[in-house]
Amino acid sequence: MELSSRVQKISESITLKLNAKATRMASEGKKVYNLTAGQLPFRPMSEFVDLIRSESDFIKSFQYSPVAGFPELRKKVLQNFQETRKIDLETVAEGVSFDAVISNGGKHALTNVLGALIDHGDEVMIFSPYWVSYPEMVKFCGGKSVIVETTPFDVFIPSIEEIERKITDKTKVIIVNSPQNPTGTHYRDDWMQKFAELMEKYPKVTIISDEIYYELFYYDPRPTYFYQHKPELLKRTVIVDGISKTLASTGLRIGFTIAPTELTSVINKLQGQTTSGANSLVQRALCQFDFNQIPVYLEPIKRHLRDNAEALRACLSEHKLSHVYYQPTSAFYYLLDFSQTPVIERFKKGGEKEDYSFEICEELLEKHGLALVPGQAFGCANTARMSLVLEKEPFKEAIDILVKFLLDS
Ligand code: PLP
Repeated sequence: MELSSRVQKISESITLKLNAKATRMASEGKKVYNLTAGQLPFRPMSEFVDLIRSESDFIKSFQYSPVAGFPELRKKVLQNFQETRKIDLETVAEGVSFDAVISNGGKHALTNVLGALIDHGDEVMIFSPYWVSYPEMVKFCGGKSVIVETTPFDVFIPSIEEIERKITDKTKVIIVNSPQNPTGTHYRDDWMQKFAELMEKYPKVTIISDEIYYELFYYDPRPTYFYQHKPELLKRTVIVDGISKTLASTGLRIGFTIAPTELTSVINKLQGQTTSGANSLVQRALCQFDFNQIPVYLEPIKRHLRDNAEALRACLSEHKLSHVYYQPTSAFYYLLDFSQTPVIERFKKGGEKEDYSFEICEELLEKHGLALVPGQAFGCANTARMSLVLEKEPFKEAIDILVKFLLDS
């Protein structure tokens, strides 16, 4: 079979390899601390589960939904967006109207958006460390990723000057992801203000704001966005959100896109010819669901994330590794920097490479039963993403193992 060059360009997930090993080790009865989770391992809200159960009595729940999603749900998504972000979409600009499209998860929403916007050779700016799928989606659409790097020293905040330097005539889209995967931080409001001012200068650029972790901030202030400073930017902003992370429902596959109707109508066309409408049963349950309950549901989860972040800080500090710590504030990740710890020296002795994140994570798993995601996956050398969701006791055991490993040069 001759495969398309488009699909062959997509890289395989390097996390799969280590994950498969972690699963195999656990099935062989070995003690494995799996800190790779990209989801909350908690039961979803019982009110939401009950709604799904009761909707399953209706035949409509088993049939196609309208391509863009049930109108009641789209209206609700728009309403919730306006209330939580304190934005009035009616007053953004004369003649511009907005809509929401319901898709099969945030990933599907993003692929739709990039598919609708990117032509061959268009540039898409991404800040690193980035969520693994952005560059692969861009490649699939024939676009070119332009990376703006950030470092742990500046708490992963992209420099506005560097962004401007990298904008060219071909820049079609800039992706902003706040709260951020994999760093577990959200950009400060003053950064958002400066970014808004910069975007005013480049009217041809569309901004994708990936807000899938919006409600998952566990330190104030809550995430804010550039368009709250300059609402007219919403004319060329696409917001991606969904229920995967904030309702602990990654498997239900529901994502949202909020954008001017100029774009949502095209996405509607694309979705209609590819996947059709998203899961009817879950959409119908969401039509009845009170979105204001999400922060209530997340409160104990956020407390848990805060406690685990604090345990990590205390453990690093106890072993004189405080310089590795930065304050995670949102989502449920922490990006650990090996380059500032003694362990990196041992790996450097073995070779000339720039990035040892895979080798380090492989050894951590094989010798110590600790699974992390190598920073290589996020375009950030010599780092690894750890998830903060594990229960308190195993999390403490895991970070004790980790810290001893970090000190072993
Ligand atoms: N955006 C970011 C930053 C993510 O981390 C993820 C999932 O990990 C998604 C989008 C996609 O979420 P979904 O599971 O709804 O496809």
